Amino acid sequence: MFRKSVDHPSSFFANFLRQCGGCAVIDGGLATELERHGADLNDPLWSAKCLISSPHLIRRVHLDYLEAGANIIISASYQATLQGFEAKGISREEGEALLEKSVKIACEARDIYYDRAMKGSLDISGDGVTPIHRPVLVAASVGSYGAYLADGSEYSGIYGENIGLETLKDFHRRRVQVLADSGADLIAFETIPNKLEAKAYAELLEEEDMNIPAWFSFACKDGTNVVSGDSIQDCASIADSCEQVVGVGINCTPPRYVHELIQSIRTVTTKPIVIYPNSGETYDANTKEWVPSTGVKDVDFVSYVAKWREAGASLIGGCCRTTPNTIRAISKAL
Ligand SMILES: [Zn+2]
Repeated sequence: MFRKSVDHPSSFFANFLRQCGGCAVIDGGLATELERHGADLNDPLWSAKCLISSPHLIRRVHLDYLEAGANIIISASYQATLQGFEAKGISREEGEALLEKSVKIACEARDIYYDRAMKGSLDISGDGVTPIHRPVLVAASVGSYGAYLADGSEYSGIYGENIGLETLKDFHRRRVQVLADSGADLIAFETIPNKLEAKAYAELLEEEDMNIPAWFSFACKDGTNVVSGDSIQDCASIADSCEQVVGVGINCTPPRYVHELIQSIRTVTTKPIVIYPNSGETYDANTKEWVPSTGVKDVDFVSYVAKWREAGASLIGGCCRTTPNTIRAISKAL
């Protein structure tokens, strides 16, 4: 099993990537799969609602992704915020326990997966006798401030003039602290829609002296800009200058923009590049539905993988609307 060392975050992560053969597979959409298993996510807490109502479904989806070949599973805490829980009448203490629970569920899924691998014939080493484990990390998801608002503003990145750097830091501080101490291997700051929020995360990690690796992943609207209109190069530069950041990349973005974005990111950082696009459909914040666009199907999505790898991506998976089938195909392609 891959173990977290006391090393510097970047050497810990480099070691992990080496053990994965240079490129790691990230899991796919969580909400999509929870719904397929019967969960009702029509709630401002979205997939975090399942932490309360159906943790077994979350565990099941993590396990599906591990069996599909994922090296990194991301916890169901994207939309889990202490402020969001409080609005539901859930106390601060209970809210913190739910954040910890999101990571615990992912760790349990990993244990079950390893246990099955041990008993079965999965991942048998060259001598055919010693079971070896595929390295698996648990990433604690942190969604943007816009994800908490649940009004789709994480897809516009427009928070208004009243929301400044300090507001964002205060908003995220306690949740990030709890997740950093939860037993997760790293923190995945996901769907970052603007430069301001990236700066807030970087300052938080530094000021609070958090000794946990993190990746910054941005949501983009085209091949050069994040959804707010800030340039991906400016955003990636902020990630590059933060010591705890071990990966910089793109998620929840149509696959067709990704190649150009990887090239832009490469001009400002040598850190590993993380790519987990959505299926290419677009989200309608008003109806809260995904609208089919010129989206690509699983098979097409996977046809991009070699190109992304070639351009410099070393962690590849899927975001919204991708499934264990997508991840299995990515895993095979790599
Ligand atoms: Zn997504």
